[in-house]
Amino acid sequence: MKILVTGGAGYIGSHTVVELQNTGHNVVVIDNLSNSKEIALQRVSQITNKPIDFYNIDIRDFNALDKLLDKYSFDCCIHFAGLKAVGESVQKPLDYYDNNVGGTVTLLRALNKHNCKNIIFSSSACVYGNPKIIPITEECPKGLCTNPYGQTKHIIEEIMKDLQKCDSDWNIVLLRYFNPIGAHKSGTIGEDPNGIPNNLMPFITQVAVGKRPELNVFGDDYDTHDGTGVRDYIHVVDLARGHVSALKAIENKCGLEIFNLGTGNGYSVLDVVHTFEKVNNLKIPYVIKPRRAGDVPTCYSNADKAKKVLGWSAQFNLEDMCRDSWNWQKNNPNGYDE
Ligand code: NAD
Ligand code: UDP
Repeated sequence: MKILVTGGAGYIGSHTVVELQNTGHNVVVIDNLSNSKEIALQRVSQITNKPIDFYNIDIRDFNALDKLLDKYSFDCCIHFAGLKAVGESVQKPLDYYDNNVGGTVTLLRALNKHNCKNIIFSSSACVYGNPKIIPITEECPKGLCTNPYGQTKHIIEEIMKDLQKCDSDWNIVLLRYFNPIGAHKSGTIGEDPNGIPNNLMPFITQVAVGKRPELNVFGDDYDTHDGTGVRDYIHVVDLARGHVSALKAIENKCGLEIFNLGTGNGYSVLDVVHTFEKVNNLKIPYVIKPRRAGDVPTCYSNADKAKKVLGWSAQFNLEDMCRDSWNWQKNNPNGYDE
C-alpha cells in the first residue's frame, strides 16, 4: 500500500517505517521535527536499504497537506504526529489542544478532501483512566484522563468516531498503546527524549550510561506485588508490527475498530529495574520517592482482540526490551546528537 506516515521521524513512527518498508509498503513521511531529528530517517533507510520520501510539514498546515495530497494518492494514513509529554501538557494545555486536536482535524479535512478515507491513529491506554477491571479489554469504559495530553487522545477518538458515523466510507483503526520501550535490534534507532526523561525506561538507560545518578521510583505503597506501579511494557518493534497488521483491518473495510496493543503482562517498576540489571549485567541505583501525581497503580491489557482479528501478538519479552533499550543507549549515549 502507499502510506502517509505523520510523525514518522519520532520514536514509534521511525520503527514503524522500518516494518512497513520491510513488508513491501511504500511510505511517505511528514514531520515538523518538533520532537525528532531527520537523522532518524537516514538510519531507518540504512536498516531497510530503501530511500524515504520525507517532507517537513506541520499537520496544522492545510495548504501544505493539500499540495502533498495532490502529488500522491495514498491508500492509508498512519497518524503518529502529536505532542506527548504529560507534564508539559499540564503547563501548556492550549499547545496540546492546538497541535494534537487541531492538527488532527486539519489532517482529517485534507484527507477527506482527497478521498483518502483510511486512517490508523496512535491512541493510548491512558484513555481508560484508572481502570476498574484488569486486564483491560477494549470494551472497558473510558475513564477520566487526569491531564490535557490524555484528554487530547480521548477527544480525537471521539472526533474520529463521529466522522465515521457520518461517512461510512471512512475506515478508522484506533490503536491504544500500552507502554512502548525497547529499540530496533541494530541499536541505530531508539527513543531520544529531550531533557529529563519522564518515562521509566529512558530514565533507567540514562542512569546506566552515567547521565543521571539514580532512578526515582515513584511510590512503593501501591496495592501491587512489591508496592511499585505495574504497567504493560511492549517492545516498540512489536508495536510497530501491530500497525502493519492493522492495515489488514483497513483493507477489510473495518469501519471503526479499536485495538489494545500490549503484551497482556503487567510488570512493576522494580521488576523492570531488576530485569534490566540482570540482562545487561549492570547496577541501577534507585531511591523511593512519593507517588507521582496522576499515576494509576496498575494498568495492563487484554490483547486478545488484536490476536483474534488481526493475527497480531507481541513476540518480545521484558528481557528483550531491556536488552534492546540498553543497546540503543550505549551505542548512542547522546541519542541522535553526535
Ligand atoms: P515522538 O514525539 O517521538 O513522535 C511524534 C512525532 O510527531 C515527532 O517526530 C514530532 O516531531 C512529530 N510532530 C509533533 N507535532 C507535529 C505536527 N504538528 N506536525 C508534524 N509533526 C509533528 O512520540 P512517539 O513516542 O513516537 O509517539 C507517537 C504517537 O504515539 C504520539 O501521538 C503519542 O502521543 C502516541 N503514544 C505514545 C506513547 C509512548 O509511550 N511513546 C504511548 C501512547 C501513545
Ligand atoms: N516511574 C518511576 N520513575 C520514573 C518514571 C516512571 O518510578 O522516573 C514509574 C511510574 O510511576 C509508573 C511507571 O514507572 O508506575 C511507568 O511510568 P511511565 O511514565 O514510563 O509510563 P506511564 O505513566 O505513561 O504508564
